Amino acid sequence: MKRIYLDHASTTPLRPEVLEAMLPFLKEQHGNPSSIYGEGREARKALDRARDRIATILGASPREIIFTSGGSEADNLAIKGAAFALKDRGNHIITSAIEHHAVYNTCRYLEKHGFRITVLPVDSYGLVDPAAVAAALTPETILVSIMHANNEIGTIQPIAEISKILKERKILFHTDAVQTVGHIPVNVQELGVDLLSLSAHKFYGPKGVGALYVRRGVRLDPLIHGGAQEHNRRAGTENVAGIVGMAEALVLAALEMDKEIERQRELRDRLISGIMERIPHTRLNGHPEERLPGNVNVCFEFIEGESLLLNLDMQGIAASSGSACTSGSLEPSHVLLALGLPHEIAHGSLRMTLGRGTSAADIDTVLEVLPGIVDRLRQMSPLYDADAFCKTH
Ligand SMILES: *Cc1c(COP(=O)(O)O)cnc(C)c1O
Repeated sequence: MKRIYLDHASTTPLRPEVLEAMLPFLKEQHGNPSSIYGEGREARKALDRARDRIATILGASPREIIFTSGGSEADNLAIKGAAFALKDRGNHIITSAIEHHAVYNTCRYLEKHGFRITVLPVDSYGLVDPAAVAAALTPETILVSIMHANNEIGTIQPIAEISKILKERKILFHTDAVQTVGHIPVNVQELGVDLLSLSAHKFYGPKGVGALYVRRGVRLDPLIHGGAQEHNRRAGTENVAGIVGMAEALVLAALEMDKEIERQRELRDRLISGIMERIPHTRLNGHPEERLPGNVNVCFEFIEGESLLLNLDMQGIAASSGSACTSGSLEPSHVLLALGLPHEIAHGSLRMTLGRGTSAADIDTVLEVLPGIVDRLRQMSPLYDADAFCKTH
């Protein structure tokens, strides 16, 4: 049976062209970019070219790009790096209630080290209100971190609007753009941010490599101390093959972006409306328009997301749910709870994230299979009384 992979927000497959670009640096081109002889210079050249290509696409200059081990490290470097560098100026940080754990838990950690964290609420679509950011600012505020688009519900935040407010007040602004880079246009000048995180494996590059954009003049304490790599801001011999692959993946993503946005949006909307038509007591999570082109997130009342995922898996479909039973917790996702959903409804969530390989036929298959699974699970649910619903709805 052909598998249908609908979990691209979690990770994407490596593009064959990207693997080809990486292979020389995993085989014969083994030099250390810090060495001054030929092999080292070759590696340095590859690193410089990758940095140029990435910077150009983001609207940054090459010196503003720091390579990291991925999105989580970029988020940690941005937030802890800025917090520790600016702690003499203030101790207040503002973030939102729907951030990825790499941001959320980093802020929680800083709380233990004397920083004060304000967590802004979101509306029922998952949007942060720029006026609420302005209202939360204090003379002690040193950093605001609001993600560009959410990994669970796909809502895209008004980053440019927020940055205008923060620029006037000269407060650093970080955005986790791991879900948007390579998927929708991301330009650091247009967004007006000072710090921006990205991760290669979310746009068909390799796992374990990412970058942080750091606007010129922004002070950051390093997290990893050692050699002078990355202008003294991130020690350690660079992941040359990974970085070359990340640049290749980003260039390829930029080339096909317009076409993919349109194609995935159409498939996404077909999947959403198909689900709504076929399955009663269903709710769309996230914003209907200000939404990532490949993101579908719905809640089905009266069922558990986990059993839904297992049933889909048996039918060859890989998707994801908001509740994290696999990690031993029965808590539903903090993102769905922040939208104001009650626990029992947040438990029945299903996220399907489309990608380059998703076809119209895949969407048709999901629409054939899903209603039957939901119906079967509801019949088994003690909470679901189909007859009562016929009478009252
Ligand atoms: C995946 C993801 C991360 C973490 O990136 P890694 O490269 O896996 O560490 C951070 N933020 C968001 C929004 C993500 O989707």
